[in-house]
Amino acid sequence: MAVALGTEPFIDVVRRVAAQRGDAPAVDELSYSELWRQTARVAGKLAGYGVVRGDRVAIYSENRRGFVLAYLALLRLGAIAVPTNVLYRAADLGNILSDAKPRVVVGSEQTRPHVPAAMPFVDAAEIEAWAKDASLPSTFDDVPVAPDDVAIMIYTSGTTGRAKGALITHGNLSAIAAQVGEAWHWTSADTLLITLPLFHVHGLCAGLNGTLAAGAHAIVRERFDVNDVVKLLQSGDVTLFFGVPTMYVRFIEKIPPQKFPHVRLFVSGSAALPADVHQAFEEKFGASILERYGSTEFGFPLGNRYEGPRVVGSVGVPMPGVEVTIVAPKTTDRVAPGEVGELLVSGPNVCHGYWDRPEAMADAFVDFDGRRWFRSGDSMRFDPEAGVYIVMGRLKELIISGGFNVYPLEVEAEMRLYPGVRDAALVGIHDAARGEIPVAFIEADPGFETDAFLAVMRERLASFKLPKSVRIVDALPRNAMGKVEKQRLKASAEEKP
Ligand code: AMP
Repeated sequence: MAVALGTEPFIDVVRRVAAQRGDAPAVDELSYSELWRQTARVAGKLAGYGVVRGDRVAIYSENRRGFVLAYLALLRLGAIAVPTNVLYRAADLGNILSDAKPRVVVGSEQTRPHVPAAMPFVDAAEIEAWAKDASLPSTFDDVPVAPDDVAIMIYTSGTTGRAKGALITHGNLSAIAAQVGEAWHWTSADTLLITLPLFHVHGLCAGLNGTLAAGAHAIVRERFDVNDVVKLLQSGDVTLFFGVPTMYVRFIEKIPPQKFPHVRLFVSGSAALPADVHQAFEEKFGASILERYGSTEFGFPLGNRYEGPRVVGSVGVPMPGVEVTIVAPKTTDRVAPGEVGELLVSGPNVCHGYWDRPEAMADAFVDFDGRRWFRSGDSMRFDPEAGVYIVMGRLKELIISGGFNVYPLEVEAEMRLYPGVRDAALVGIHDAARGEIPVAFIEADPGFETDAFLAVMRERLASFKLPKSVRIVDALPRNAMGKVEKQRLKASAEEKP
């Protein structure tokens, strides 16, 4: 492996690769040497804004060239980049600004109106102009950083409580890039198409950083447009594509059957890839999607094997350098193989804590067996026969009905198999007798009959797992990563039981 896991700051890796791969394309048409020169100019200008080592700088922008340049420039300054979801508005953005206290916000024309006027603001377009300004110095004396220094801080998309800034170090970034690089056989001959937002770890740490660590090429698009994506995948340049499940659903719905002979790997993550989506994609496009599991706090600890077989409905095996174990929630007692518990993760990919939240640190980390483990908050099961891990859902989304555990992902997978169900979500609402009862939200085709559906479910599911009411919706509410916003569903179900 080219990069020792987490022992070298990621920006040192980029510096080395930039020196070795000078003329090769790095990001869109920008070569490695030009990328390095342009980030030097941006670093110099940001230093002029008073940005120094350890300062936070929010990047509240769509996937723009200015995002990439600002991010790398901040790493060169030893400052802490705070990639921020562009969908955040006054309340969520306000929390981040008051918590992180950024020296500057790097934004865009679209996000500018949402940033308080008193906040120092630099438009991504201005960053792009600095980068090309030949009158500015094209070298910069990088501020030395250690692997354990914080490189970026990403606020968890948590749907309950105040968002927490996960502290991701320079060593975490290089470890994650090396892990995905090794697991997915990334080489300098690869081109990745990035349409995932760069403000999230999937697009940034796996996508952009994985590309740069491999000396490969990234084509960055502002958003996912399935027709534009198909054109690029057929152009012959792109070899890798990373998506979230909703993107693959879009392929299945909108794109006629065809092969993508140049694309060697499709990856899905950030939410469960339903088995029917995996199968339909394979039937229509002849490619088996590789599903991986990860989060803001611990990168990508599990993934299906590159060489296969890719076990549908599973998130595969530990990535290089990762240890995982499954314990009874809130304990350190390992469950028996095959039983459900909470996944704990240990490895150089695990973040170092949360910004200014000692109490959250104490809840999230636990030391035993000579290692520091992170409590994922996800229910998981190891399937001893297939030798793979299976996600059962967020622990806090677990429904306990009459003392029985109902894992929403399991019931949702079953509901999706019923003809006419396009998508389904299960949430628990308060019930005086049983504590909680499951309620289903369904995106259904016209003609869907709830009674007939429930009759089939009754045959296939234990009575305590059966939805006690079914709500038909036009579309399930989703966040920027395509994840269903269960808290919103729960609130609406509790309002109108
Ligand atoms: P985030 O930090 O926003 O990326 O959210 C991380 C959470 O997304 C994880 O803790 C899981 O609950 C969920 N997640 C990520 N990947 C998968 C996957 N392949 N299958 C099921 N859930 C996933």
